[in-house]
Amino acid sequence: MSAEPKLIVGIDLGTTYSLVAVLQAGVPVVLPNALGERLTPSAVSVLDDGRVVVGAAARARAVLDPRNTALAFKRDMGTERLYELRGESFRPQQLSALILAALKQDAEAALGRPIEEAVVSVPAYFGELQRQATRDAAAIAGLHVERIVNEPTAAALAYGLRAADNDQRVVVFDLGGGTLDVSVLEIVSGVIEVQATAGDVRLGGEDFTDALAELAASRLDDDDRAELREHPIGWARLREACEGAKRRLSTEPAATVDLPDLPFGPGRRSRLHQSITREQAVDAWAPLLGRLRGPTERALRDASLDPGRLDHVLLVGGATRMPCIQHAVAGLFGRPPLCSLPPDEAVAMGAAVQAALKARDSAVADMVVTDVAPFTMGIESSVRMGSQFVGGVFAPILERGTVIPASRVKPFSTVADFQRTIHFKVFQGEHARCADNQQLGEYVLAKLPELPAGKVSVEVRFTYDLNGILEVDLTVGGTDRTETLVIERSPGRLTAEQVEQARQAMKRWKVHPREELPNLTALARAEALFVELIGPEREALGQSIARLRYALDRQDPVLIRQCRELLVAHTTQLLGGSEG
Ligand code: AMP
Repeated sequence: MSAEPKLIVGIDLGTTYSLVAVLQAGVPVVLPNALGERLTPSAVSVLDDGRVVVGAAARARAVLDPRNTALAFKRDMGTERLYELRGESFRPQQLSALILAALKQDAEAALGRPIEEAVVSVPAYFGELQRQATRDAAAIAGLHVERIVNEPTAAALAYGLRAADNDQRVVVFDLGGGTLDVSVLEIVSGVIEVQATAGDVRLGGEDFTDALAELAASRLDDDDRAELREHPIGWARLREACEGAKRRLSTEPAATVDLPDLPFGPGRRSRLHQSITREQAVDAWAPLLGRLRGPTERALRDASLDPGRLDHVLLVGGATRMPCIQHAVAGLFGRPPLCSLPPDEAVAMGAAVQAALKARDSAVADMVVTDVAPFTMGIESSVRMGSQFVGGVFAPILERGTVIPASRVKPFSTVADFQRTIHFKVFQGEHARCADNQQLGEYVLAKLPELPAGKVSVEVRFTYDLNGILEVDLTVGGTDRTETLVIERSPGRLTAEQVEQARQAMKRWKVHPREELPNLTALARAEALFVELIGPEREALGQSIARLRYALDRQDPVLIRQCRELLVAHTTQLLGGSEG
């Protein structure tokens, strides 16, 4: 009897939304969350009773309680930033872990078996620290990461299943909530090679929402605008309304932003009612649209690819639903892009394909993936200026675009007579000066043989694996002494002990049980809407909210279900027409 095959899920841990998918009978299937939805907002909120909620309920709370709600924390992965939510500090890894734990539970509920392993996607542009932070987040959530996969590679895998046999050159243009990735791929009879990647880690759909909020605010008089900016709830509500307007503008020529009861400072409330046309929005977005060109040209240049030789441009990321983005992409590449898969699901689907590949699912056995190093990595060296040496010079060892896994070696030698130590500093980046690149780690190689300058050589070997993890080995010439560089002082990197502590902390947090999420989300969404309304509509919604609260107090499952369904229907009806 053969053992049950290993089941690895694919996870797209996105800036705004996260998804979990699995390959079933050779087809990637996105699994639903506790609400039956496929996209789980990457949001975490701490309630006033200290309970932690994730997903849609947390997203709705961003309006009601922005101070105790964390969004877009993927942007801070690999940094030392701490989020303070109701007096408790959370690292970006811990917030991501809460999302991953929720997706793990969703997958377990959908598949009816425990899930312990995942393939997790990251932007191709993520450096080593951010990749490690992603692994740490998974470890905190109790998931082993079988593979970190670049998002564009995953997208190509999702399309690859459907692709024809002939060789193709493909660009994946991925504009998500927070990041832009442009990747050039070559697909040759089932083998996908990433030839170049470029991007912007600070450009995404959220910036388009911010720009709409700025446009709406710019139409207010100076005092109102200044006061609104000072008011976190007011601003969050304006932003939320603009997010809806942005989505409606993807299918309609104009959208209305209507906030009936906006706080403009102590005790003063008034209505904000504006119409934004597509043309006005596109004008406001012009600086953002302009920023699509740089990474596009760099990716094409690095791959030495003339756009005329491209076979396909794939659109990935929710923000590529915007017609102005599709138009801009068509202009940049001189051809209409393909968007046959849902752009916000393609990466998760591809991660599921990669997961099946790891688990050796026979449906994908013939596909092979290779990848490239997203950054140049090297060490600090010095140049001779007369009798002096000037330091701070970046000496690349493993160049950006090298197909990985890869190992590259370079010899260095001492610069002073009888030099006993060499201080190695490892950097990643594309700049000539080390100061302009990101330091990954350092190591002091001591007890070198006492010899004249230049007579002691050290071979520096960089080994970069498919998960984007770098190992540096230092071998002293003429000996078999080799030391492996331990990266000690990287800000944002967690030690094994810290990961364990974070795991324990996660067990202490009172995370809302999955089965309560539908009630909690229905309440949070209705309460966020309640803030928006005035008059009889507000009163009626207040009554529906009170009914569900009463049923929850009574702990009567039949009544709870009835009241929740009524509240969801009531909320949906009130939102009718105003949400896209
Ligand atoms: P992703 O991280 O790929 O899920 O992308 C999320 C981003 O896509 C967010 O900024 C959303 O506002 C944006 N988005 C999703 N749907 C639409 C739509 N229909 N029109 C415009 N933007 C959208």
